[in-house]
Amino acid sequence: MKKLKYLAHYPPSVVEQVSKLINTGKLGSHLLKKYPKPHSLKNDKTLFSYTMNIKNEYIKKSPPLSKTIYDGKINVIHNALGTHHFISRVQGSKLKAKNEIRIASMFKSVPEKFLEMIVVHELAHFKEKEHNKAFYKLCEYMQRDYHQVEFDLRLYLTYVDMQGKLEEWS
Ligand SMILES: [Zn+2]
Repeated sequence: MKKLKYLAHYPPSVVEQVSKLINTGKLGSHLLKKYPKPHSLKNDKTLFSYTMNIKNEYIKKSPPLSKTIYDGKINVIHNALGTHHFISRVQGSKLKAKNEIRIASMFKSVPEKFLEMIVVHELAHFKEKEHNKAFYKLCEYMQRDYHQVEFDLRLYLTYVDMQGKLEEWS
């Protein structure tokens, strides 16, 4: 059986269940049943206000955010999802003056829950740099089902790897 790289850190029983869905051709319909529709935040302007709303509601006192944009240069499938990062952030000296969040363009065509999850993840980094307990606590504070959604997103990335994007979400 092909190794499921996006699910490497989940227990064997979970991976086995997912393999079953894949082998019976039901992974796509499983995802669609849970998340029937894509979100409608298709441009950077709406993405930015969406991010600001979450930021103001949960972590108002964090450093300011200058913009949130979709970035076609980020290839989430081949990038470092395995080392946790869904989004590449602006690094180096500019970071302090200009806090930006960049999200891979593929997230234009996903359910809102998935977009919310990566926005929450990046916002949590405004307060916690490391992926530690405090970080994930903050993620769960901003999105109650954060871990479940991350799992489902990993299922979708597995699906995309094998069959390409779900038509129903584009
Ligand atoms: Zn991170």
